[in-house]
Amino acid sequence: MANKKGNRLKVTLACTECKNRNYDNMKNTKNTTEKLELNKYCPTCKKHTVHKEAK
Ligand SMILES: [Zn+2]
Repeated sequence: MANKKGNRLKVTLACTECKNRNYDNMKNTKNTTEKLELNKYCPTCKKHTVHKEAK
């Protein structure tokens, strides 16, 4: 009942350089079919790096 359609999926974003999983994100699977790729600040690398969706 709380879920409208179940199109939202929780994904983890991992830094592509150190592989640390720094961010959790909600993805709408209806609008976003490909893997997420976001430029975000990584506290381990101490800079902005590309973060990719991790399984
Ligand atoms: Zn990193």
